[in-house]
Amino acid sequence: MSKSPTTRLRNFIGGEWRDSAATESVDVCNPATAEVLGRVPLSSAVEVDAAVRMANQAFSDWRRTPATERVQFLFKLKTLLQRHYEELARTITIECGKTLGEARGEVQRAIENVEVACGAPILLQGDFSEDIARGIDEFMIRQPLGVCACICPFNFPGMIPFWFMPYAIACGNAYLVKPSEKVPLTMQRVGELIEQTGLPKGVFNLVHGTHETVDAILDHPDIKAVSFVGSTPVAKHVYARAAASGKRVQCQGGAKNPIIVLPDADLEATTRIAADSAFGCAGQRCLAASLAVTVGEVRKPFTEAMTDVARSRVVGFGLDEKVQMGPVITPQSKARIESLINKALEEGAHLLTDGRGTVIPGYERGNFVRPTLIDGLPPQGDIARTEVFGPVLGLIHVDTLEDAIAFTNSGGYGNMACLFTSSGAQARKFRSEAQVGNVGINVGVAAPMASFPFSGARESFLGDLHGQGRHAIEFFTQTKVVVERWPREWTRQF
Ligand code: NAD
Repeated sequence: MSKSPTTRLRNFIGGEWRDSAATESVDVCNPATAEVLGRVPLSSAVEVDAAVRMANQAFSDWRRTPATERVQFLFKLKTLLQRHYEELARTITIECGKTLGEARGEVQRAIENVEVACGAPILLQGDFSEDIARGIDEFMIRQPLGVCACICPFNFPGMIPFWFMPYAIACGNAYLVKPSEKVPLTMQRVGELIEQTGLPKGVFNLVHGTHETVDAILDHPDIKAVSFVGSTPVAKHVYARAAASGKRVQCQGGAKNPIIVLPDADLEATTRIAADSAFGCAGQRCLAASLAVTVGEVRKPFTEAMTDVARSRVVGFGLDEKVQMGPVITPQSKARIESLINKALEEGAHLLTDGRGTVIPGYERGNFVRPTLIDGLPPQGDIARTEVFGPVLGLIHVDTLEDAIAFTNSGGYGNMACLFTSSGAQARKFRSEAQVGNVGINVGVAAPMASFPFSGARESFLGDLHGQGRHAIEFFTQTKVVVERWPREWTRQF
């Protein structure tokens, strides 16, 4: 694929790269340099329908292909992803802005999901009970659903489709990916690698676009299941609209993750881990710490240590190996983050470090925001409850662990909460009482490995089964229970 600035991306439908008929497109920009990397067509319902038709055709044979044969294509994909590891990581950095180290981690997690999905022949095994009554056996099998689709956010262009796609395909479904229009290049490249595996045409499809494309997916009667990852307002829209047409739906939404620091925590390690959580990926991670809640006398030493770490973080273009934090995704995102910092000041908070108006020499057109620490944030105020999605950490101070847990559970989101302590008893209480989907104990980004569900709760998740691991296998299959009667007098064999 040519990467010239005027390249308009093509859709991958039925095993062919097709020019979109869309008249409108949006630019894909490098967030560090503002260089235009390509243009994304805003594909219409007609193109979604074309992809679904091809996928449905492919499904009729793919569903009957033995799982052991299906996963051979995933083994090939894993090899190709490993071979193109560095290239994919650079593509992620260039279109999404994160550092090369962070991008490599993302590719690694994508590969790990392929590896887990390769276990489909075992994971798909059913249950069998002989003689549930005399001469009657009962068994449960798992069958693929049909055509399934995912709608992806901008912040992990190479990983999030892999929470779903390899499992869906391994289970015998045909699949459609709609990448974020802000970062479509990584999946475009993955699509080319999938093509090289020889996967039967139509089993994997890629359709670019924005709202109209999404709504066409949600309304299409032949799409049986939708996975969405993005902001909570859009998650709610997707959940309601997809469910209205009878689809199975899982929607991962936004977050406002607290990390709680107890006085007995290892201060040096906690500060380092907390800074990586809050400022890694420029805070554009659904598992980023966005609030640090100090308990008791740790308030002063933690605040001082965090201020030092935040000030010393090296900000710049992620391809530079010395850089510890890249830009945020768009100029609009930078403006939004800065306006939320202003709002926190209006609420009575004050800044310990100020990332507003950041300009990086040599990258004057980039969307940079330096690490920002806000102290004195009113716990019941708007900013303590609003997802900022940038390198901004608010500090809140309470007296007891109970207060910290009550604060954690009072917010709307429930993606992640972390506790820093050396006390097993406090850790046990916290992990039991925190109403969130992912808990970290002395860990700042409690990202589940590929074999565990990527959990989330309350406003951070709508649905039942999550992405990754066994949950994904369950999501992408329909159980069928068969009860069979073979009495002795019919068979005369027993
Ligand atoms: P977003 O909600 O703006 O966009 C996500 C997808 O929805 C994109 O593909 C976009 O084209 C589409 N979309 C956007 N608005 C739409 C509309 N009105 N109608 C139909 N489709 C629409 O999210 P984003 O800015 O790309 O990603 C950041 C968000 O994703 C943050 O809120 C972050 O917390 C969340 N996120 C959550 C998780 C998780 O696991 N819970 C993981 C990653 C990101």
